[in-house]
Amino acid sequence: MAGKQTFGVVAVSLCRRKHTMSTVYRPVKTIAPAKGGGGSTQQVNISKSQRLMADNGLIRQSSCPGSFHLLPVALRSQEKLVRLVDKFMEKAGCQKIQMPILTSENLWNATGRLNECAPELMTVADRHNKRFLLSPTHEEAVCDLINGCQTSYRQLPLRLYQMTDKFRDEKRPRFGLLRARQFLMKDLYTFDTTEENAIRTYDEIVTIYGQLFDSLGLKWMKASGSTGTIGGKQSDEFHLISEVGEDNLIHCNSCNVAFNEELLTNTEHRTVAVGAATMSQSTASSPNPTCIKCGSSDLSSSKSIEIGHAFLLGTKYTQPLKTMYITADNESVLMEMGCYGIGVSRLLAAALEVSSTDKELRWPVSIAPYLLSILPPKGGSKEAKVGDSLFQNFYKVMHELLGNDVIIDDRLDQTVGKRLLDTKKLGIPYVAVFGKSLITDSGTPLIELQDTNNGTVQTLSYREAVNFIYDAKVKSEV
Ligand SMILES: [Zn+2]
Repeated sequence: MAGKQTFGVVAVSLCRRKHTMSTVYRPVKTIAPAKGGGGSTQQVNISKSQRLMADNGLIRQSSCPGSFHLLPVALRSQEKLVRLVDKFMEKAGCQKIQMPILTSENLWNATGRLNECAPELMTVADRHNKRFLLSPTHEEAVCDLINGCQTSYRQLPLRLYQMTDKFRDEKRPRFGLLRARQFLMKDLYTFDTTEENAIRTYDEIVTIYGQLFDSLGLKWMKASGSTGTIGGKQSDEFHLISEVGEDNLIHCNSCNVAFNEELLTNTEHRTVAVGAATMSQSTASSPNPTCIKCGSSDLSSSKSIEIGHAFLLGTKYTQPLKTMYITADNESVLMEMGCYGIGVSRLLAAALEVSSTDKELRWPVSIAPYLLSILPPKGGSKEAKVGDSLFQNFYKVMHELLGNDVIIDDRLDQTVGKRLLDTKKLGIPYVAVFGKSLITDSGTPLIELQDTNNGTVQTLSYREAVNFIYDAKVKSEV
């Protein structure tokens, strides 16, 4: 009994300042998985990532369809992803700004997009009946910003980005954060003096995007895309292959290019996006679609989730909005523009969608909500008596190493096994279990180290366990 009390006091004192499983806010709402293609309409519209995020208390449907409460564990992960994206944007010489969510409808009228995009725009009016958009994207707004400041050729290239909530009145919001009406997006806008320089910028950013997705350990694909309502001269998309994706990627087995099926079904988009020289004569109604580059009909297709998009815009926006820079000869010339989006909240959900098992979440290690969970023995157990001081020392060292990236599973009334199941369901990459292995024939207590992502378990000495987590932390840092 004495052991239990001692442990209880320690656990409570830790609760006050540390991350503990008993206090983290995870209201769980279980959604039954759809069974083999059947299930209710609600189940059909629910993706694996959405179900697992709700089951684990990470997100909660709000009063508005297609928008979600992000709860502490999910937000920790999203904030890590934001910091990661920041790191790659800084690497590419981009500067972070924050533009208002509201954009005047007048600006969108000037570029013709107010009508073109009308069905998907969410709009509001102020008390003077002036109308604004809850912006889905900021090409007009950023040009308006730049127009207010005289820009010299010396200031170009200019690369401005933000990460803010965007709004789209999806006709059919579904799959949780994968197709939401409100979502966190990283949008970068670039300005160059010439088309040649804009292409150089474009190639540089597309390369950085690849490096970012690589750093998450994701199997992504780049594909030529439709320029759609954003417009411009060239467009590349970044996708994760997934059955719940709403895009269809076509892969040419002959010349190895990938492109969005939209390029086959929309002649106008195809012409703008890839240029007449590389265009096939396929149309939507063609029974034998052919590659947009080599004309081969040896094509395969897969469903995918779009996670990023790059557009070489030329002067599509700078022309109507008169966004100019001053040359060395003191002339005003239109800027060449590019825009580059990453759906941050969608990328988070998409990474979970492609990495998780049917029953357990799996995170890219660098954005997992916690790197390590420590499971002390059940209160009052014989393991608790043996492992108490060892656990406390280990936690102290781990907290110094990882800060708040370590969480203690202090639900001491539950068995180690039960807590371990829950921790693995939540997908925390590493779990240090202070359980049966504490009691050994040699008298040296051992720690069970679980690697959730690859399913391995090692029984390690205290020193080995510390080194293991030290190495894991280094590997998780991008
Ligand atoms: Zn081809």
